[in-house]
Amino acid sequence: MRRLLISAVLSVAVVLGLHAQELVRGNVENIPSQGSYTPSFKYDGAKNNPLNVILLIGDGTGLAHLASGHFANGGEMTITNLRTCGWVTTQSADTYTTDSAASGTAYATGHKTHNYAIGVDVDDRPLANIPEKAAVKGIVSGVISTDDLNGATPAAFFAHQKDRNMTEEIWADLPSSPLSFVSAGSREKMERMKEDTQKAIREAFTVVADLNDPAAEKAVKLGYFPPKTETQSMKEGRGDFLPATTEYAIEYLSARRTSKKKGFFLMVEGARIDKSSHANEFEPMVKEVLDFDKAVEAAIRFADKDGNTLVIITADHETGGLTLSSKGDPSTGSIGGVFSSYNHTPIPVPLFAYGPHSQDFMGVQGNQEVSQKIQQLLGL
Ligand SMILES: [Zn+2]
Repeated sequence: MRRLLISAVLSVAVVLGLHAQELVRGNVENIPSQGSYTPSFKYDGAKNNPLNVILLIGDGTGLAHLASGHFANGGEMTITNLRTCGWVTTQSADTYTTDSAASGTAYATGHKTHNYAIGVDVDDRPLANIPEKAAVKGIVSGVISTDDLNGATPAAFFAHQKDRNMTEEIWADLPSSPLSFVSAGSREKMERMKEDTQKAIREAFTVVADLNDPAAEKAVKLGYFPPKTETQSMKEGRGDFLPATTEYAIEYLSARRTSKKKGFFLMVEGARIDKSSHANEFEPMVKEVLDFDKAVEAAIRFADKDGNTLVIITADHETGGLTLSSKGDPSTGSIGGVFSSYNHTPIPVPLFAYGPHSQDFMGVQGNQEVSQKIQQLLGL
């Protein structure tokens, strides 16, 4: 009787199309190791408040994504060389499984909101973001992403719109943002916006396509929008855009600090870890994680030199329901991954922290609490 019941339920499920997603497997073999940077730990956990905060968000990066990069790279990454870890819950105000808009807003503002929301609360009222609060205190800010600038994560740090798909309105919010540095793969996207929007952006920012443009050095507010070929996926041949722009932005913002006692805030997003996970493409995802690790390295090297910089590495949510195959050999970088979903999952994500007050980020915390701690440390 019981068996009959189960088979009846299963038949109904099949008719309704309720069968589980099939598992998608992928492998990597012999990816040349890029090594890793071992920090000095000289200022890690120091008691002084940091002047600068660099927040690196690996979009869609769960524990298995980081482990994939680690094992494929011969058992090391700069991220996994760090000592202070935490665990971040990502649920949005209205949904068990968040999108990048609600989670990006939580990191940018310290408040949970509904999915699709960019810098607004559950009632769609604007929420002040870190760059806006920082500007009042004389702290300069920057945003970098391999996505378009109107992508949910970078947009949460300058725009206030109720729906992430309001592309024109999101771009139109950029000129009034206090950001001193923005860079994303958006030249073609920006050029599709209304004339007025483009004009306002060019009036507020010095816009360049190449950092060797002499105008970049003199800029007070810089918009670096390279052609799409330089910010596409690693699979399509992206070069060193993310680590190189991170390094550039750190120097750029350091040079534009308003005084010796005032620092900077920089958000760096590795956006394509999420995109390759939605597509269930294992090897391209691993290459995105390893590129993200190089951006982390740029931040950690600066923190070691500077002594007043807190670096936070985390994610907005997990994508793909990824796990690793039991068979593999990290010594040759040969590993396998198994995706169980084409979407985001509600599973918590890892956080790594380095520098003064890194210990504040240990334990289990909400994504909005990560932002609240950053704001408190910067005196916002
Ligand atoms: Zn996604």
